[in-house]
Amino acid sequence: MVERGLIPAELGPGVGAYFTTREFDLATAQGRAGLAGRLGLRLVFANQVHGAAVRWIDQAAAQAADAPTADALATGLDGIGLVIRTADCVPVALAAADRRLVAAVHVGWRGLLAGVLAAAVGELRQAGAGELRAAVGPAICGRCYQIGEDLAERARRGGHLVFQGADGRPRLDVAESAVRQLRAVGVDRLSLVRQCTSESADLFSWRGERATGRQGAVIALARA
Ligand SMILES: [Zn+2]
Repeated sequence: MVERGLIPAELGPGVGAYFTTREFDLATAQGRAGLAGRLGLRLVFANQVHGAAVRWIDQAAAQAADAPTADALATGLDGIGLVIRTADCVPVALAAADRRLVAAVHVGWRGLLAGVLAAAVGELRQAGAGELRAAVGPAICGRCYQIGEDLAERARRGGHLVFQGADGRPRLDVAESAVRQLRAVGVDRLSLVRQCTSESADLFSWRGERATGRQGAVIALARA
């Protein structure tokens, strides 16, 4: 069943994963509380800095008052929801359902170039993950994401998906680049929500609106 405000992602038995919409503005305490209430989960958020750091969420970290500074959260604990927040950047949910391991990752161009996805996959593998599944959520599409020549050159060198827009200026497809990066580190089972944050009225877009809220990805292990 598709619930209002939640786009479900199928990542295996015992794993609940959703991408959120404008229904919950995760930039606000009210929106965060609303999502926690809807899911009936304690939620762990991250203080995101567009880096490649992964934070492992153990019992102590799950109870801590301050959000950890990281762009990826990973855990083997059940009953808590890991949340990353986005508004054009790519939200990614990762799971090794058989090993009961999950992660949520925030991927903007900086994180993409810094290798945050490889770092998150590495963290899960180190914790015992074998087969991994990934869901790539709604983000700004390549057509809408114009970038400068300097970044285009760096992104091309990193093997990311840069193309020329109709106006001749470079564009970066961050979501497809995330898919490429996930495949490169051995994640074969992938799903992609092809919805552009800048073009959809249901999603927040920083590029489209500037002063805007946040949607995100939430992933949790069901209680055993
Ligand atoms: Zn678009």
